[in-house]
Amino acid sequence: MKLCRRTYSSSSMKIKNVQVGPSSFVKVRMLGKGDVGKVYMVRQKGTDKLYAMKVLSKREMIKRNKIKRALAEQEILMTSNHPFIVTLYHCFQSQDYLYFVMEYCMGGEFFRALQLRVGKCLDEEGARFYAAEVTAALEYLHLQGHIYRDLKPENILLHQSGHIMLTDFDLSKGSSPPGQPGVVKSKSPNVPPWIDTKSCVGALRTNSFVGTEEYIAPEVIKGCGHTSAVDWWTLGILIYEMLFGTTPFKGNGRNETFSKILHTDIHFPHQPAPYGGNISSNTKSLIRKLLQKDEHTRLGSRAGAADVKQHPYFKHINFALLRNMTPPITPAVQEPNGIDAINFRKLQESMSLDLEADGEKMLQKLEKSNPFEKFDSLTLYHNGDSDTEQDEEGEEYEASKVVMTA
Ligand code: AMP
Repeated sequence: MKLCRRTYSSSSMKIKNVQVGPSSFVKVRMLGKGDVGKVYMVRQKGTDKLYAMKVLSKREMIKRNKIKRALAEQEILMTSNHPFIVTLYHCFQSQDYLYFVMEYCMGGEFFRALQLRVGKCLDEEGARFYAAEVTAALEYLHLQGHIYRDLKPENILLHQSGHIMLTDFDLSKGSSPPGQPGVVKSKSPNVPPWIDTKSCVGALRTNSFVGTEEYIAPEVIKGCGHTSAVDWWTLGILIYEMLFGTTPFKGNGRNETFSKILHTDIHFPHQPAPYGGNISSNTKSLIRKLLQKDEHTRLGSRAGAADVKQHPYFKHINFALLRNMTPPITPAVQEPNGIDAINFRKLQESMSLDLEADGEKMLQKLEKSNPFEKFDSLTLYHNGDSDTEQDEEGEEYEASKVVMTA
């Protein structure tokens, strides 16, 4: 393992050799399914702490050529420390599986919360709040050198407080090492200089075809490579969906959707009931600028998040105080720790997870031939964790200074 410098300070995180394994947890229920894995609510034995455990099948990943994606997801979760990005506590591997133990977001999927609302949409203020939180999270990811590439309501989870948490980073692309952020001096004396996050991901151009049909950017469909500007396109689609309960280029089938994404101009209907009115010109202007088909003229393509944050749409948003604002949706809670998972669909499990048996097959020593050799087994302690100071065993690194890479 080698050590390298983090580019974005997170003074409140410490990384240690992993302190737990599969058998340290008891499965409570399944929360969701992803592409090559499942997510379970688990309880740590001997405590009443609940976590979301993502379990990825090594066999599936090998079969479907997704090893790099799992490693990318680990890299992003491990190096992220942001209020709107899901917190990772442990990661480890057994003979058959990779495990991510993350914060349990008991509010469930933002998508589900949106679908359950009358008209499946929000008013302008509500949409603006979530757009601002997503913008802050994208800004952080870009600053870290990552393109998210899979922004859609299903990947936005709600914390118990109602604030968002981005999850599912297996489509995300990292530039390594990330570029250095530039400082852009403002032309106006009233506007402070801002950080140019575009330069962190500017050199990163990727060609793979990924994303969710209705959220895919034109340059991804054309297959001519894409940059961090894809995330600003998907933000535009997300804001539209929050306001109108549907995406702007939805067609009957994939071909029609793609054709509309490439060629059709955006149209703004009346908002569905109970709102019903026209949306404001500032909102239309932001959506139009984010949904510019040419990525080079799209908002965010010059200096990244700073461009987006400075649009008049966000004039009354204080990004530094977002966490102190009251979110428009308050997740329903019956049991205070969310163990009843009332904000999640009931899912049938085809194959049962046996954490005890997997614990027996926990990999202690990694062989060179293991394609998951680069998957680090780690425990991350975050500021405020009650056990941070108690456990002094193992290697420990100040995350603000170093991060481990394989
Ligand atoms: P993913 O594979 O990351 O897309 O996760 C699949 C589904 O599992 C999500 O859509 C959520 O319903 C659920 N899920 C994932 N992570 C969490 C989490 N940290 N807390 C609660 N539910 C989660």
